[in-house]
Amino acid sequence: MDRKRIIIAGPCAAESDEQISIALSEVQKRPVDFMRVNLWKPRTKPGFEGLGETGLPLLVKVAKAGVNPGLEVIMPSQAGLVMDTVLPHLAADGKLLLWIGARNQNHTLQKEIARACMKDPRVMLMVKNQPWPSEAHWEGILEHILEAGFPKANLLNCHRGFSPTGDNPLGLRNMPNYEMTARVKESTGVPVIFDPSHMGGTVANVYEVCKSVAGQIFDGIMVEVHHDPVHALTDSKQQVTWDQFDELLNIIYQVA
Ligand code: PEP
Ligand code: MN
Repeated sequence: MDRKRIIIAGPCAAESDEQISIALSEVQKRPVDFMRVNLWKPRTKPGFEGLGETGLPLLVKVAKAGVNPGLEVIMPSQAGLVMDTVLPHLAADGKLLLWIGARNQNHTLQKEIARACMKDPRVMLMVKNQPWPSEAHWEGILEHILEAGFPKANLLNCHRGFSPTGDNPLGLRNMPNYEMTARVKESTGVPVIFDPSHMGGTVANVYEVCKSVAGQIFDGIMVEVHHDPVHALTDSKQQVTWDQFDELLNIIYQVA
């Protein structure tokens, strides 16, 4: 894994064995470091909240295929469950990526998730910025996690944008703030992953955000990719196809 170019891709939510099998075969053709196999989905309104524990065999399937799985955990118990399930099946040099989502802003839970994750050095933890644009709060999440003893070498930050206020001519779902990102990266020393999917909110805007980004501040990218976005159970408007993902990689990294 190139720590300056970490690539995370896959569906917003794991939906079925068939969908994950298709995504797995697409991931295996590409330079993807972690495949999204997301089991627990915080939702704005009640709806499909993910497969939950019934999706754990999908993580095993991905790990057994030699691909590193990545997913959000909302509760510390979920981190433990995923680790117990996946780690025995990881390749010798394999990694498991867990992340704390934008809406999960309880520092006690954040620290407990970090303490669970640090029980195994193969587990990387990523923190997404909170929805509202406070630099101090964003830095604080990372500081709380480091204070809990989580090793900085396994910590990633993710910029997914802030809830829009004021001018938003493109109608972005969340607004990037690249200056703030650069300052948080500088003050914490934690690498930052770019999430154009939750900034864009639509496929057209995902392209716009990728074209506008000054790649240098980011150390990787996380993109939501689905083989049939129109029928996706979550975030169907912003998920790109695997062919579109190749175009985005080309825009950002000139990878064909
Ligand atoms: C996600 O990445 O799956 C997600 C739900 O995004 P966010 O936490 O940024 O809203
Ligand atoms: Mn999503």
